[in-house]
Amino acid sequence: MALPPPLPPGSTIGILGGGQLGRMTALAAARLGYRCVVYSPEAHAIGGDVAVAHVQADYGDMAALARFAAQVDVITYEFENVPEATVEACQRHKPVRPGVRAIHVAQHRLREKAFFRELGLATADYQAIASEADIAAATALPGILKTCTEGYDGKGQVRVADRAALAAGWAALGRRGCILEALVDFTAETSVIVARGLDGETRCFPIGRNDHRDGILRTTMVPSGLPAATVATAERYGIALARGLDLVGLVALELFVARDGSVLANEMAPRPHNSGHWTLDACATSQFEQLVRAVCGLPLGPTDMLFPSRMENLIGHEADDWLRYLADPAARLHLYGKTSARPGRKMGHVTFVPAAAPSRSTT
Ligand code: ATP
Ligand code: MG
Repeated sequence: MALPPPLPPGSTIGILGGGQLGRMTALAAARLGYRCVVYSPEAHAIGGDVAVAHVQADYGDMAALARFAAQVDVITYEFENVPEATVEACQRHKPVRPGVRAIHVAQHRLREKAFFRELGLATADYQAIASEADIAAATALPGILKTCTEGYDGKGQVRVADRAALAAGWAALGRRGCILEALVDFTAETSVIVARGLDGETRCFPIGRNDHRDGILRTTMVPSGLPAATVATAERYGIALARGLDLVGLVALELFVARDGSVLANEMAPRPHNSGHWTLDACATSQFEQLVRAVCGLPLGPTDMLFPSRMENLIGHEADDWLRYLADPAARLHLYGKTSARPGRKMGHVTFVPAAAPSRSTT
């Protein structure tokens, strides 16, 4: 089947979701001469601040979705908890890239783990916890109990040392459908971000080393310093996943490097990923530009690391130090324009690069 022609500059990209990932995508799109329209339910969407329009409506509002689709040439999403029905409705009007399949898998932790295994990706031992009987039969202990749906930034998770803690944890999570994952004794966390174009070409970004605190990503360091064999496995896993989902766009796969050297798939996100923010300042193509290229059917960009970097998230009031970062020649500051710095909220990030490093042009 012939490929659809590339969408030329001047075309409009619709983005489902109003957060920082969509915002940075819209900025990258603008640089290449594309326009973005953001669709999200909030009155103020930080993605909408840098787009040509913000359609403010619920994800279930079919008339608003149709109006949105009529204004755009292609649709993408910046977070994976957009309801499947919303994506399906959009697909009836315009191409949605990545499609509904990636959302379907990513929205449910059990489905996601089973899908990884089907593709030959190793994971921690896991089991479904949906009843007292499941608790009695559980073997993946000590472990982490996670709700199957709606978790992010470590929310909806409890560490459980033994069966009694598992029972208490399940009650604390509201006896919802959960997954129990064996606790991985990891030496490092990393993630691979893979772009896949309309023609099926795949490109991986260099992998970084991710450090989390309280379930939230704090820093990503690139290069990761991980052995070549680990990098190769990460890339093989990422490419298998992008192909397995048949996606056009980006997928990020979070990975554990276990003490025995094995690489285990944790979870995926079919969108730009926080661990790829360093690419804005230290990579030949940013992950956001790569997403724009993929969804518009353009050639994918080179993913060479330009220089080493360390990305730090600015969480809550950490972003109040903006003046200090601006005064630091090694710091590249990105603020998301969020109005209230609630604890745990990602307000921006800063990427530290070698002091003499040239600036990547972002506008
Ligand atoms: P995020 O949105 O930040 O990716 P999340 O809420 O989707 O987080 P996970 O990625 O599953 O949750 O877990 C958050 C962090 O908790 C992981 O990055 C890791 O540090 C730790 N963690 C999760 N699962 C395990 C596990 N099975 N063994 C050891 N640590 C784990
Ligand atoms: Mg995660």
